[in-house]
Amino acid sequence: MSFSTKDTILDYCKLNNIDISQETAEGFEKLSDMLLEFNSHTNVTALKTREDIAVKHFADSLAVLKYDLIKKNASVIDIGCGAGFPGLPVKMLRDDIKITFVDSTAKKLRFTNSVAEAFGMSDVETCPERAEELVAKGKREKYDVAVSRAVASLPVLVELVLPFVKAGGCFVAYKSSIEADINNKESELSKSLNGIKRLGGKVEDILDASLPGVNDETQKHSLIVIRKVGKTPIEFPRRYAQIVKKPL
Ligand code: SAH
Repeated sequence: MSFSTKDTILDYCKLNNIDISQETAEGFEKLSDMLLEFNSHTNVTALKTREDIAVKHFADSLAVLKYDLIKKNASVIDIGCGAGFPGLPVKMLRDDIKITFVDSTAKKLRFTNSVAEAFGMSDVETCPERAEELVAKGKREKYDVAVSRAVASLPVLVELVLPFVKAGGCFVAYKSSIEADINNKESELSKSLNGIKRLGGKVEDILDASLPGVNDETQKHSLIVIRKVGKTPIEFPRRYAQIVKKPL
């Protein structure tokens, strides 16, 4: 039997109690076509097969919808979205949200823009900028939810992302379960705790985001939920070189 993107998405959603219509699931077939076509002339993803795209990009991105983290009509920002992950699949299922896609590589956002247009999505903004520079352009403390996957180690990422989130909102970081292990002093999460506090955040939850059938501990995924409990001091984010050289 040939592989079906639509069925992969429907199965993932059913397994995880995520609401999805047949029509939306069908839309992922088109999204896969568009990604493969775009990638044939402009490299925006390393994944080359429909199966990898459906599982590792689409289903993996949808993990946030297993949990009640994005309220109706929420404003969401995806930092370092690349071709639009995790934000694009989330927007496919949740047309109510307003979403801003940020990536320093403009060509990747051209893909996101063409998808938004092809699907007639509303409330989609794309910002071809570095996150640490964009925040000063009217985007400080503005978002209900920030998401980010595969962009930087968590000690660096929290300084790039938390300034965008308003008090009461949250940052959902897509990470391997190994890096989200708070009991391991060497994990990215453990090494971020001081920075999270200084940036006005608090670790609220570590949630399972593993793909179906993954039993190998090293392959498991987690969502680290960081609640914004105060404002980020104005001196953050610092310049990128400093953030990387001396994480908080
Ligand atoms: N989130 C996507 C892409 C991951 S690749 C996915 O999971 O598939 C990492 C992306 O982060 C790259 O596209 C890179 O351009 C972007 N990036 C890295 N540092 C950034 C920064 N400081 N500001 C904005 N984008 C950044």
